[in-house]
Amino acid sequence: MKGGYIMGEFVIESYDDLCDESGFQFEFRCEKCGRPFKSEYVKSRNVAARNKNEKLGNAAAFLGGLFGGKAGELGDLIDRGSDFANEMAGDRYEQEKQAAFEAAEAIAEKSLSHCSRCGCWFCSDCYDKKAGMCKDCAEEVAQEERDRRQEAEDRRREEEERIEEEKREAEERRREEEERAREEAEAAAEEQKHICPKCGARVPDGMRFCGNCGTAMIKVCPKCGAENDRMNNFCQECGAKLK
Ligand SMILES: [Zn+2]
Ligand SMILES: [Zn+2]
Ligand SMILES: [Zn+2]
Ligand SMILES: [Zn+2]
Repeated sequence: MKGGYIMGEFVIESYDDLCDESGFQFEFRCEKCGRPFKSEYVKSRNVAARNKNEKLGNAAAFLGGLFGGKAGELGDLIDRGSDFANEMAGDRYEQEKQAAFEAAEAIAEKSLSHCSRCGCWFCSDCYDKKAGMCKDCAEEVAQEERDRRQEAEDRRREEEERIEEEKREAEERRREEEERAREEAEAAAEEQKHICPKCGARVPDGMRFCGNCGTAMIKVCPKCGAENDRMNNFCQECGAKLK
């Protein structure tokens, strides 16, 4: 049965109410394994009084039934009196029960521990004293902690990879920039070959003399007579120094 009784400062949920009309007993259980902790049976002090009232009530009803009239009225009166007495006894029973429960829970508290996470009560086998939690909760918390650490580690690695990737991209851009600069320099040098060194006119590809001023756009090797690019310092055919 589920209850709202307070155990210590916490609510205990799992217990059986084994009380009967003449006494009180409660059975608390470990939420996990169900191991029971039964309180000792405590007799109600009001039982004797209540039994007497019930007998009186029965006698009154009997009298009323037997004689009617005056005796019946008397019977009703006694009956009402015993009803009232029974109500009182009932209240006292509830008070006694509450007190018995509190005494029982105080003893159960020595055997059961409260989990600070799920709020239930557990026997020593199912409770992790160090964690202050039931073993299931302690394991879940430990797992969550492991997950958190793993996530942090993953994030750190991703960040490292991102930085590494940025470095690679920057290096790639730098190389492309160098390549373009080199190509531009080569193109400029190539273009320079077609400019007449004397008058600055542009001489089309393959032409040996400037069409504007007649300057030679090639160097003829003095040794083998091969035609060399005018930028060459040595003959590409024989290796002789060019002028
Ligand atoms: Zn247990
Ligand atoms: Zn728990
Ligand atoms: Zn020229
Ligand atoms: Zn030569």
